[in-house]
Amino acid sequence: MVSQLLSSVSPSKTMTDFVHSLPCMSSLSSLIVQPLKLQQNSLTSATFSSSSSKSSTLICSSKPNNGRAPMDGGRPVSRNRKKSSYGTSRRSILKKSFTQEQVNFSFPVTHDPHVGIIGGGMAGLVCALSLEKRGIKSTVFDTGNHGLGGRMGTRKIDPQPLIFDHAAQFFTVSDPRFAELVDNWLENGLIRQWQGTIGELEVGGQFVPLPSLPPKYIGINGMRPLADALLSQTRMVSVVRPCWISRLEPFNGMWHLSENGKPCGQFDVIVIAHNGKCANRLLASSGLPLIARQMKKLELSSIWALLAAFEDPLTIPSGAPPFEGAFVKGVDSVSWMGNNTMKLFSENNSPHCWTIFSTAAFGKKNKVPQENIPRATAEKVETAMLEGVEAALGLPKGSLQKPFYSRVQLWGAALPTNSPGIPCIFDPNGRAGICGDWLLGSNLESAALSGMALANHIGDYLQSCGGRPEEFAVGLDNEFHSIEGHDIGQFSGLDMESKQLQHFN
Ligand SMILES: Cc1cc2nc3c(=O)[nH]c(=O)nc-3n(C[C@H](O)[C@H](O)[C@H](O)COP(=O)(O)OP(=O)(O)OC[C@H]3O[C@@H](n4cnc5c(N)ncnc54)[C@H](O)[C@@H]3O)c2cc1C
Repeated sequence: MVSQLLSSVSPSKTMTDFVHSLPCMSSLSSLIVQPLKLQQNSLTSATFSSSSSKSSTLICSSKPNNGRAPMDGGRPVSRNRKKSSYGTSRRSILKKSFTQEQVNFSFPVTHDPHVGIIGGGMAGLVCALSLEKRGIKSTVFDTGNHGLGGRMGTRKIDPQPLIFDHAAQFFTVSDPRFAELVDNWLENGLIRQWQGTIGELEVGGQFVPLPSLPPKYIGINGMRPLADALLSQTRMVSVVRPCWISRLEPFNGMWHLSENGKPCGQFDVIVIAHNGKCANRLLASSGLPLIARQMKKLELSSIWALLAAFEDPLTIPSGAPPFEGAFVKGVDSVSWMGNNTMKLFSENNSPHCWTIFSTAAFGKKNKVPQENIPRATAEKVETAMLEGVEAALGLPKGSLQKPFYSRVQLWGAALPTNSPGIPCIFDPNGRAGICGDWLLGSNLESAALSGMALANHIGDYLQSCGGRPEEFAVGLDNEFHSIEGHDIGQFSGLDMESKQLQHFN
């Protein structure tokens, strides 16, 4: 069991010591959410100026037409209702976020609260699961056309089919709370250990395998099926997909969510479980200036993904074991290459489906709108990445076999490069929280821990019946620090201790 394994990692140390000893995960030990000191603004106050100097408060009370939250034939309308913010420039989004009014719910939460979660990646899904454990119902909204999961996506190309994990490749475990979840997924046959060889591949073909511990986990049949299965046994979670929440409006003590004008329901509390441009736009005129301000501090890298299927196995450097995944070093266009066919099916038969990721530096240099990649850019990027694979494997120029299928994709908002290092953010006056990988780091474990932390925080807040909001404000003004790790995220316990490793070339 993962939790047992974790406790046996270093018998002389406590789990907290162990977590602190992991260079990129030290912030996970702070999962107990510490409340911030809010200004003493009473929930019942009629007029209020929030802690953000330029923000004022929009009181949302149960009394219809109390003069503060006008109604429009029963439709939610905030006092400062403006035209849709979509399609506006980043500058105007920033301006709006700073000047918008703070919403302030001024009466007790309903008796059977319902949480709306916007985003069905690891963070949003674990948040929903953890809310259910606290007896709280939720609805998860996600844009995914093919399934849930966000950046834990798997692409299946018919008719063969070809299968590629096209974002998260595998994960490691360092925190006992995550270990408990992972044990459960193992028991339910949702994941298994990746037994194949993974290592570092230096330009020219020098391969250094990583130690087998800590264990590396993968979704059975890929990451997306894991995401889709996570909520299969829940009874208090609804999923709405594909659905792109485009507006949040506070009215009559509830959050009203809509997709391009189509109502999607009303919720006592909302969770923003996504990030990047889309979240900034959604928050720009929502009545949550403190949350919007924190979200805007987040910086994200861009990574190109090349999905390539080859008829024959790739030529592995002589003397190296037949590896299934490699962090590539010394090549500008490639930071990772992984063989999905071997990883998922332990088969060395054709086709050989490889996922190849660029470095963040290459992503930045070649950034274009991800929804509309010019053909010339796609061709240039694919050529550069295949040449990078060739160079990494130490093959003569032009000798790499041509893939019979290939596709490039840009993850424009790939991985966080900075973080507030706090498990979640919660604004009790606005009854809204944020979870996501970036709150703690840049991997699936951080995302899961953040979702869990926010769910428990909301559970505690709801148990308090919404009173004493000042005790429940967290993360609203934490500073951000930069995040270390691989270009495709952090893998706790996988630091290369070259002296302990065998070299092959
Ligand atoms: C190329 C790449 C490789 C990676 N490799 C690894 C790895 O090997 N191991 C690892 O641990 N981590 C890896 N990561 C990081 C990992 O994938 C993320 O840390 C994790 O998936 C983040 O989960 P999340 O729930 O915070 O966000 P997301 O997965 O981004 O989920 C957010 C979800 O919200 C949805 N959404 C957005 N806006 C809206 C809206 N308005 N309405 C409704 N839904 C909305 C999105 O479609 C998405 O599904 C990788 C990431 C990338 C990009």
